[in-house]
Amino acid sequence: MSELANRIPDRIEIGADAVPLVDTFKRQISYLRLSVTDRCDLRCTYCMPEAMKFLPRKEVLSLEELYELANGFIERGVTKIRITGGEPLVRRDIIDLINALGKRIGYGLEELTLTTNGTQLAQHADALAKAGIRRINVSLDTLNRNLFAKLTRRDALPQVLDGIGAAKEAGLKVKLNAVALKGVNEDELPDLIAWGHGQGHDVTLIEVMPLGDIEEERLDQFLSLADVRGQLEQRWTLTESDHRTGGPARYVDIAETGGRLGLITPLTGNFCAGCNRLRVTATGQLYPCLGGAERVDLRAALRSEEPVRNLAEALAKAMKIKPEKHHFRMDQRGAEPAQPRHMSMTGG
Ligand code: SAM
Ligand code: SF4
Repeated sequence: MSELANRIPDRIEIGADAVPLVDTFKRQISYLRLSVTDRCDLRCTYCMPEAMKFLPRKEVLSLEELYELANGFIERGVTKIRITGGEPLVRRDIIDLINALGKRIGYGLEELTLTTNGTQLAQHADALAKAGIRRINVSLDTLNRNLFAKLTRRDALPQVLDGIGAAKEAGLKVKLNAVALKGVNEDELPDLIAWGHGQGHDVTLIEVMPLGDIEEERLDQFLSLADVRGQLEQRWTLTESDHRTGGPARYVDIAETGGRLGLITPLTGNFCAGCNRLRVTATGQLYPCLGGAERVDLRAALRSEEPVRNLAEALAKAMKIKPEKHHFRMDQRGAEPAQPRHMSMTGG
């Protein structure tokens, strides 16, 4: 696969009446998280089991199909697209898709971003910057190499740190995302925050969500960010920040590090009222809510005889079924996950 950008027209229309996507709670959709693969080169213990079964490749959308879908969303008012996965940078020729989408920046698309585990970032950082990406999220839960290896089941911390360094060199603004895990990286979080801020990166902490079966007990992993905040306040001066990105994070400034810390609290503080996003999996399933079972099949629409009409219908259905909020709970040992899908499947 190459020259994707030359082979795909600059615009595809979804319906002549390309009206914005607005759900039944009057939330306008402007943000798409597009998963380009369910595969990954790490096996984070909170995300998936070691023996994770990945999808047969034939079920996954081609890069051309992903591009067509993304363009369709741009036509319907999506201004920000985040490429995610699985690990997006393990998908072959992914840079072709990113280059092609990069050409839409300024033409309907305001921002193209990426979430990555960083293992392949050193090879790709320059290409990402050249494609027009300005900011990326890198998931990093600890700076302790042994703990990293235990947590991700792969000894890859040096590659990830090289990748973060390369991204900075390439001029990409890096945000570090860390999932807070009880008794696992709990004690490491201050070092991670201090290091990130020292390097000029924003840092965001996330509460673990009950998505997909893993080998561990979710309840044992769960650490409330209210508790983390209490711990951090014993060490540093935290003040509420007005900073907002339109996403679920709330921010505090840390006087001593001079940096900003984001807190994403799906369990202890619901943030769904302002939800502006949709998620599409690598097989073209559109999930209007990360925590819900509702979905529409965009792949079937895309591959049908009348893709334009069927995609428009599928998106109209998605707007009808997008739920008001998720219903995550984390109060019962041995409970079934809120959804059987792993985060790597839906696209985190
Ligand atoms: N592989 C890439 C990465 O790790 O950045 C992108 C996909 S990953 C699924 C996206 C984000 O989801 C990561 O920041 C990861 O830590 C987070 N994540 C995965 N499983 C989670 C869970 N059960 N609860 C909360 N966050 C989770
Ligand atoms: Fe892979 Fe990201 Fe899941 Fe870790 S969180 S296993 S890096 S998809």
